[in-house]
Amino acid sequence: MGEKNIIRRIELTPIHVPFKEQVRKAMSSSERGVGMAIPVDEEWLGGDFVICKLIDDQGNEGIGESFVWLPETGVSPDQIIDSIEKALSRYVLGESPFNIEKMLFKMDNNVSRNEVAKGLLDIACYDLMGVITHRPAHDFMGGKLVDEIPLCALIPMGDPILMRGIAKSYLKRGFKTVRLKLGESIENDRAVCEKIRDAVGFDIRIRVDYNQAYTPDRAVQAIDAIEPFQIDVAEQPVHKDDYMGMVYVQDRVGIPLMSHEGCFSLKDLITLVELGGVGVVGVNTERPGGVTNALKAIDYAKMKGLGVVLHNQPLGVASAVQVHLAAARYDCLGHAIELFGAEMMEDDLIKSPLDYSNGTIKVPEGSGWGVQLDEDALQKYATEDTIIIH
Ligand SMILES: [Mg+2]
Repeated sequence: MGEKNIIRRIELTPIHVPFKEQVRKAMSSSERGVGMAIPVDEEWLGGDFVICKLIDDQGNEGIGESFVWLPETGVSPDQIIDSIEKALSRYVLGESPFNIEKMLFKMDNNVSRNEVAKGLLDIACYDLMGVITHRPAHDFMGGKLVDEIPLCALIPMGDPILMRGIAKSYLKRGFKTVRLKLGESIENDRAVCEKIRDAVGFDIRIRVDYNQAYTPDRAVQAIDAIEPFQIDVAEQPVHKDDYMGMVYVQDRVGIPLMSHEGCFSLKDLITLVELGGVGVVGVNTERPGGVTNALKAIDYAKMKGLGVVLHNQPLGVASAVQVHLAAARYDCLGHAIELFGAEMMEDDLIKSPLDYSNGTIKVPEGSGWGVQLDEDALQKYATEDTIIIH
């Protein structure tokens, strides 16, 4: 008889979930068709994801989910599945989900980059640990500090009056932080911030996302123009690869910058922080390599005295992941979290919805992530047959 709870099987399903109709409408009415300034040519009509199941020798199942968008992640669902099937799976199969550091060490040594694929496996391990032990996943992150987490609302790029109307509708629902998509022009950016700040007063927190809209010089002008309106964070004002541009801008403006499209690994993050290119750390759980590396990123930010924005537009599973992570590091964040999946996607692929109310989300109860995958929905939105590796 061998050791128990060894991972024996990996199941990977690529899926596409369309955006809700009103989201598609709002996006297609914006200049680039995506509701933000990111320089893309393709319409964005829905979310691409990979769902991963890890199954142990006792039949326990752990679930992970990764969001993919080529302009940001640089890899497609098929590429993630291929890298797991051809390479990463051999460091997971035959291993215990509790040996997560060993798995990551082996994966990093043998396969460079591929943070999203490694993150997907890591995320599923936390669920499996919880399912095996009948404990919530946050117990494997040090335990939760709070039972509910405040959320930030997303306001797509558009006319200042329209954006103000959307912001006010979120505040009525209990949100206390809004994130404005800017970058159409410095004049429009300023008008948006002015109108919204005038309408909501100074009790509401505002952050902005430029999605790489400006050159470093223009970014300095753009951020100077909105500084009077008390902005918490200015996200990705310059091109994603322009780290020295981020440093140039951060040296000259009073609002802390955050990198999003330009940050994928712990190395990216540490480089940006140590160069002085960011003042707030942005974390998408799957990107620095899953929960384990997200915890390292958050702990590093805390030691550097920097706040953290957790952000993503996931389905139900990865939304729960983000909430467990936020609950376990709530003292380190200092900013409301961004979880736009429930607002954007036509289905969340879980059986019972997460508890969103009054601008907050509750930490789900139960083993692992505390959510159950809806198998019918998984089949409905699958773009190809599930790949089984054992
Ligand atoms: Mg962004």
